[in-house]
Amino acid sequence: MTREGGCCCGQLRFRTEGEPIRSGLCHCFDCRKLHAAPFMAFVVFPEGKVTITGEASSFESQPGYVRSFCPRCGSQVFGRLAKSEPGEMELHHGSFDETSLWPPAYELWTIRRDDWLGPIPSVTDHHARNRE
Ligand SMILES: [Zn+2]
Ligand SMILES: [Zn+2]
Repeated sequence: MTREGGCCCGQLRFRTEGEPIRSGLCHCFDCRKLHAAPFMAFVVFPEGKVTITGEASSFESQPGYVRSFCPRCGSQVFGRLAKSEPGEMELHHGSFDETSLWPPAYELWTIRRDDWLGPIPSVTDHHARNRE
């Protein structure tokens, strides 16, 4: 199954092949601030199953974790887990051209979770910080 998505202006696009390895949420300050949102929802694919087209700029938010965004509109589009989990690429639910894909199963950095956010039924695995 092929899915597509991209940045807000359409310059930076991606196509995925098959199903993701996992789907989750992150409440950490890096994700909050980079996405200007109370949390970030992501899916992780094997790098070889994602095709990127267009120009990207990059920012290393943590050592070995490079986040890439559209230099024209500023949308965050993909992240590479270069150091901790090589060969994986992170994409964001909000970038896909469809909604309701792959409900997140876990959440990270719940110590930064907004109090007003209610339970999310698909999320059954909760981590105070990163996964072990
Ligand atoms: Zn753009
Ligand atoms: Zn995060």
